[in-house]
Amino acid sequence: MSHDPNCIFCKIVAGQVPSKKVYEDPELLVFHDIHPWAPVHVLVVPKQHLATHYDVQPEHEAMLGRMLALAPRLMKELGVVNGFRTLINTGPDGRQEVPHLHMHVMGGPRPWSKG
Ligand code: 5GP
Ligand code: ZN
Repeated sequence: MSHDPNCIFCKIVAGQVPSKKVYEDPELLVFHDIHPWAPVHVLVVPKQHLATHYDVQPEHEAMLGRMLALAPRLMKELGVVNGFRTLINTGPDGRQEVPHLHMHVMGGPRPWSKG
């Protein structure tokens, strides 16, 4: 599995940097965002290093589907039953800050600080 030793999310996946984990399986890790925009704000992260959404290949389609399918299940488990947002930022114009593919899932009662 590809791993970038300088990537903060690869370090979280490897357990070298702590995170508040919500869910883990052999290909995905979900943890709370360190600067939440909403009462519940988690990041769904593939364990392998893919820098951006542009790097997704046909062999990643099932994994992307699993990322989307996981969101409502985790939100319900976290008590978010009135709706949520999913967001993938890609590249500089997409305002992607961490160059390791991730999907934001944000929910909980309004107002939110952003988004
Ligand atoms: P992006 O702008 O790349 O889509 O979002 C990156 C997200 O990662 C931001 O919301 C930021 O708060 C979060 N983040 C950055 N570094 C860390 C970290 O070390 N731990 C956690 N839990 N979240 C992080
Ligand atoms: Zn990475």
